[in-house]
Amino acid sequence: MAVFGAALAGCGSGGGEPRGSLAAPPPASASVSASASASASAAGQPAAAPTLAAGPGGLTPVFERAPATRAKTVALTFDADMTADQGPRAARGERFDNPALIASLRRLKVPATVFMTGRWAEEYPDQARSIGRDPLFEIANHSYSHHAFTSPCYGLPAVDRQAMRTDVERAFTAFRKAGARNVVPYFRFPGGCYDDEALRALAPAKVTAVQWDVVSGDAFARDGDAVADQVLAGVRPGSLVVMHCTRSAAPVTEQAVRRIVPELRERGYRFVKVSELLKS
Ligand SMILES: [Zn+2]
Repeated sequence: MAVFGAALAGCGSGGGEPRGSLAAPPPASASVSASASASASAAGQPAAAPTLAAGPGGLTPVFERAPATRAKTVALTFDADMTADQGPRAARGERFDNPALIASLRRLKVPATVFMTGRWAEEYPDQARSIGRDPLFEIANHSYSHHAFTSPCYGLPAVDRQAMRTDVERAFTAFRKAGARNVVPYFRFPGGCYDDEALRALAPAKVTAVQWDVVSGDAFARDGDAVADQVLAGVRPGSLVVMHCTRSAAPVTEQAVRRIVPELRERGYRFVKVSELLKS
């Protein structure tokens, strides 16, 4: 489990590792000035989704939560992790998908953003297509390989700086090949690890980097109630929650969602996709 463990912990929610320990720089752009007239990205994505203006020096902008919003909105995001070298494990029966989670989100009518790796879309093209054609969801980019864009990053192997843009665009290509349509130009760094070099390298891809302010702790969790408690304690208006859509390594996420959703609705929260949170 070592490699897989590193990969999932690399999503920033494993082992209780505080995200601040990653020594990532502050967001390149502190202001949320969503541009509703975002042009199609270099990756050929639809133009409908709002994006942030580029940061200083043209760096890829970074979004963490909707600041100073008084609206009780919250975005649940699910990282559909599969690393480039995990094909043999999938062939042996390990499940990196989580159809029950997607089914529950549909049943509960919860809009959500799925940060999918290109490798995941190749392994589960029917699900990528189904998620990517359901207006309840949007697919965002979690890289093709799920390798690190700066090191160290939870033991993930590193992507060369020259290969970063290609890795991101290869994931967009995988989504298109699967037949997904609701693809948005947002990118989540594997492990949430990034630096200015990575933000610079991805500038031509014209993506908005999306982090989070609430760590669910669902990676390798055994207790769905503990995950739900952590999310319920952390959510504020405008929050962005990171969870996983990877059954073998985040087995209680669906169970947690079934508690999180009604309790947050009871508190008056409305679930939105990241694209809507960016507009608020
Ligand atoms: Zn991840």
